[in-house]
Order: sequence, then structure tokens, then C-alpha cells
Amino acid sequence: MSNIIVQKYGGTSIASPKRISIVARRIVGYRRKGYDLVVVVSALGDTTDDLLKLAYKITPSPSERELDMLISTGEQTSVALLAMAIHKLGYEAISFTGAQVGIITDSSHTKARIIKINTARIKRELAQKRIVIVAGFQGVDLLREITTLGRGGSDLTAVALGKVLKAKSCEIYTDVEGVYTADPRIVPQARKLQSLSYDEMLEMASLGAQVLQTRCVELAKRFNIPIIVRSSFTDKGGTMISPEAKHMEKVVVSAVTLNKNETKVTIRDVPDKPGVAAKIFKKIAQEGINVDMIVQNISRTGTTDLSFTVVKENLAKTLKAARKASKQTGGGNVIADRAIARVSVVGVGMRSHSGIAAAMFEALAENKINIEMISTSEISISCVIRKKFAQRAVRAIHKKFKLEKKR
Ligand code: ADP
Ligand code: ASP
Ligand code: MG
Repeated sequence: MSNIIVQKYGGTSIASPKRISIVARRIVGYRRKGYDLVVVVSALGDTTDDLLKLAYKITPSPSERELDMLISTGEQTSVALLAMAIHKLGYEAISFTGAQVGIITDSSHTKARIIKINTARIKRELAQKRIVIVAGFQGVDLLREITTLGRGGSDLTAVALGKVLKAKSCEIYTDVEGVYTADPRIVPQARKLQSLSYDEMLEMASLGAQVLQTRCVELAKRFNIPIIVRSSFTDKGGTMISPEAKHMEKVVVSAVTLNKNETKVTIRDVPDKPGVAAKIFKKIAQEGINVDMIVQNISRTGTTDLSFTVVKENLAKTLKAARKASKQTGGGNVIADRAIARVSVVGVGMRSHSGIAAAMFEALAENKINIEMISTSEISISCVIRKKFAQRAVRAIHKKFKLEKKR
């Protein structure tokens, strides 16, 4: 194992010049202890959102190549500022873009996959005892086109660098003290989890717990890289994510998550006969769209409504494909419902426990919240509800499973 620590600082951790200096001091503290540091940073504060808004003010359908060119600038700003802040403390640091440190990706703009990372430059700088600062969320394809790794992609940059550099540890610094039993901004009584298994974290991330990007957890799991999530505002211990969590007691439900990033699409009056669903979903899949929950009702009249969810970003593409498919299969109108949210419970203990779904539904019923769609996996249960009830639902389910901090 090397002497390298990879640290990643998210947007809020470096949102102002003052915050950047605080982060610089933390980094220098590790340097003084003798570690070689590779630091990944995100764009300052809400920069990425602001850049995206700008693009959509110009055109409703910006080219994905140009979007990457635009949003990758956010991280380029932060690496330079952080390097300057470290210089001011009298230490050597050098900033790099993804391209400069050889983060090579495929060409799928806005959601590129990392193919390889050339570590030569980073290692050369570390050997010179410099702190290496890398722009998160970005790379270049084989034609040197700038790409980005999907929202929250700086987490992925950090874990990927942790892997190729055989880092001692990979620390994700953010604006909360770790991974909680629910988003602490929604449930103030949420409890910080000491440790979590990759599988649980993966399920939580894909069901909406924004604290880690799903793809970064996938990578960590595949290569067995432990991740620590902790706060850049305090010195408290964070959450360790590793193969098997050391649960103090037998935990059935670990967390409640919320995802407000999905839209429900309904195709009305679809003929209820073999082959129709296959045709419709093939058409949608051909557009590269991932469909999530699917519900089809029993028909009494020979036709039925078919509903499914997709992420908001894919809505326009989905509607186009679904309208075409509906026409070809003799279906009716296609409508989009944006006012939905998905609440989920996650826990590896669910594998061997019954009654979790019933308790979750009860929590919603007690709050007069109607369930519109349900889906389950081995370690999670999700319900689609009206978006306006989302926070109430999360709090009610969190309480039902007694996940609060112990007084
Ligand atoms: P960063 O800018 O550091 O990458 P993010 O905003 O991407 O930070 O992720 C941190 C946020 O994730 C927290 O501020 C919190 O509101 C949210 N979050 C959602 N679910 C959870 C959870 N279960 N535990 C901790 N944070 C969560
Ligand atoms: N700045 C990028 C985003 O907002 C990447 C990241 O924050 O990890 O998605
Ligand atoms: Mg993030």
C-alpha cells in the first residue's frame, strides 16, 4: 500500500474563499503528518447548476458536447483557487484538469465512463512532494474531447484515483457528518451511521440519497475500496463504507431515502394482448432510456393503462419514443406526471425479515398518503406518492422504524 490519501471536497465545502482556506488548512494538516495527498474538488457551491441554467436559457436542447465544455469549467476554477490557498500557507501544490492527469473516458458526453487513468503525472508530482489537486467530474475521450461523468461525478473521480493510486484511504468530505438514516435536512432526528455495506450504500444512492454518487459506490464495491464519508466542517468521525458493515445490533431497516428526480409516464388505452409491452419498451430502450418502476392494470375492456417512471432528464426523449410506440401498437394518449416522489426503505436485514412492507404502508396510511406504485428489491421497498407529501412520508416512515437518534 502506498502512503497516498485521496480526499474529495464537494461544492458546499469550498463555496467561498473562506471555506477554501479552511479546506486548505485541513489538507496541509495531513501533509504535515507525512501523507502524500491527492485532492479532488467539485465546482464551487451551485456553479454546475448555474452553468446548466445558463445553457438552457440559450436553447432548450443544448449539444451534449458543448454542455461538457461548459460545465467542466466549474471544477477548473476550484482546483486553481485551492492550489493558491495552499500556496498561501507555504506548501507546494499543483492543480490539474482531468485531461492533464490522463483521465480517459468513453465518448458519452454528460455521463462518460472512465476507461483508464494514466498515473505518471500524478506520481511525478507526488515525488516532488507537491500536493496534487485534480478537477473532479471530468475527463477526455480518445479524441481529446472534454467529457463529464454525470452529476455528483467528483465522487467517482476520487474513488477511481483511489483505486489506480492504491491509496491508503479515500475520504469524501461533504456538508454533513456522514451517511444518515435519512437526509438530515429532511429529518433532523436522523442518526449518523457508523458503517454501511457497499450493497446498502449502493441501494441508498440509487434510490436518491445524494450524499454519494451511485457509480462511485459501484466502483468501490467492484474493487473493494473502503470509502469514508465525513464533514469538512468538523473533525468528527464519519461513516465507513466497506464490504460488510459492523452493525452493533441486528438492523433490519438502515435508512429511508427520497427521490424527487423521477417522472411518471402513462400510455393510455394500450391493447391488452401479448407483444404490446415488448414493442413499447423496446422502442424506449432503443433511445438508451432506462425505465424504472412499471405498473399495468388489469383490463376489463380489452385495453389498459401502462405507467412507468423515468428520470426527469430523459422525459422529453421518453415522451417522443412512447408516443411513437403508442401509435404503432394502437394505444392512446401519452401523459407525463411530474408531481411524484419515490420514498424507499433500505436494509440488508430485510432479506430475512417479513412485515417491512406492511409497516411502511401503515406509516403512509396513518398520514393519509396514497400509494401509487410499489416496487421491491431484495434489500429495499419503494413507493411512489404525490410529491407534496414527500417530506411528511420520509419523516413518518423514519419514525415508524424507530431510526431516530437515541436521547
Ligand atoms: P457535495 O457537494 O459535498 O458532493 P452533496 O450535496 O452531493 O454534497 O451531498 C450531500 C447532501 O446529501 C447532504 O447535504 C444531504 O442533504 C444529502 N443527503 C441525502 N440523503 C442523505 C443521507 N442519507 N445521509 C446524508 N446526507 C444525505
Ligand atoms: N460539480 C458536479 C455536479 O454538481 C460534480 C460534483 O459535484 O460531484 O454534479
Ligand atoms: Mg455530491
